[in-house]
Amino acid sequence: MLLAGIALTAFNMLNSLSAQAAAPMAHNPAPGFYRIMVGEFEITALSDGTVDLPMNKLLNQSQKKTDQALAYAFEQSPLETSVNTFLVNTGSKLILIDTGAGNLFGPTLGKLITNLKASGYQPEQVDEIYLTHMHPDHVGGLMANGAIAFPNAVLRADRHESEFWLSKSNMDRATPDNKGFFQGAIASVSPYVEAEKYIPFDGDAELVPGVSSVLSQGHTVGHTSYLIQSKGQKLLLIGDLIHVAAVQFDTPSVTIAFDSDQKQAAAERLKVFSSAAKDGILVGAAHLPFPGMGHVGVNGKGFRWIPMNYTQIR
Ligand SMILES: [Zn+2]
Repeated sequence: MLLAGIALTAFNMLNSLSAQAAAPMAHNPAPGFYRIMVGEFEITALSDGTVDLPMNKLLNQSQKKTDQALAYAFEQSPLETSVNTFLVNTGSKLILIDTGAGNLFGPTLGKLITNLKASGYQPEQVDEIYLTHMHPDHVGGLMANGAIAFPNAVLRADRHESEFWLSKSNMDRATPDNKGFFQGAIASVSPYVEAEKYIPFDGDAELVPGVSSVLSQGHTVGHTSYLIQSKGQKLLLIGDLIHVAAVQFDTPSVTIAFDSDQKQAAAERLKVFSSAAKDGILVGAAHLPFPGMGHVGVNGKGFRWIPMNYTQIR
C-alpha cells in the first residue's frame, strides 16, 4: 500500500515534469464567430479576418495626429483592421449582412465561409444576403472558386449602389486607383444579377419582418445600414460608418480616403452616432475590432465606444 503510494507520487511528479516540456504552439486562431440574441433573433458576428491598413495615410487629417491618437490607444499604423459580417437568424429566414473580401484582398481575409461553418451553418442555408455597399471587402465573398458561394440566396442592396458600381461607363471614367473597386463589384455581383438573384431596393424599406434597410449615404452613394428589431430589442448594423475607433469616435469629422463623399460621410456618422448614443441602441460595425459590437456613448464634443460585455447564449 505504502509502496503503491510512493509509486503514485513518483508517477505524478514525472507527469508534472513532462507537462513542463515545451509543447509546440498551436498557432491556429480561435474560430471567428460570436453569438448573441436580439429579442428572438439569433445574431452571429462572423469574422472574415483582418487586414493591415496604413491609417495614418488614409485618414483625412495629419499623419502626426493619427499617429498620436493611435499611440494613445496602444495601436499604430498600419493598423490591423477587422472585417466583420453578421448573420441574422429570424427563425424563418437566415440573412447574411455583407460577405467579406473573398479572394479580392489577400490571404488574411476571406475567412467567412470557414467561420460560418464553424458557427454551425452551411452556405446553402443562407436565404438572403444584404450588402451595406459594394466595396470589395464587402462583396468579394459572394463568389468562391469562380462560382456563386451562396447558391440558394437572394442578393439585395440599395439601387443607387448597383447602378453606380455595376456601370461600365463609370468604371471607364474612374481613375486607375479606383478601377479596382468597380472590377471587384462587377466580378462579385454580376453573377447574381445574371442568375436573376439580385433584387435591389430603394432607400428605407422593411425587407423581412424585423429587418429594415436605412439609407446612410456618404461612404458610398447607396451605403445602407440595417436595423434589426425583435421583441423591443434593437441592433443597428452600420457597415462602414466608421473605420478607426481610436480616431473617429473622438473626432467624428475625420474621414477616410475610401469615403466617396467626405462631407456627407462625416455628417452621416455624426447623425447616426448621436441618435445611437441618445437611444442607447446596440451597434455592429464592419471594421471595429471583432465582433465590432457595442454601444456609442457621448464624450465631450465627440463619442466613445463601449464594446459589449461578453455574453454566451444559455
Ligand atoms: Zn469596408
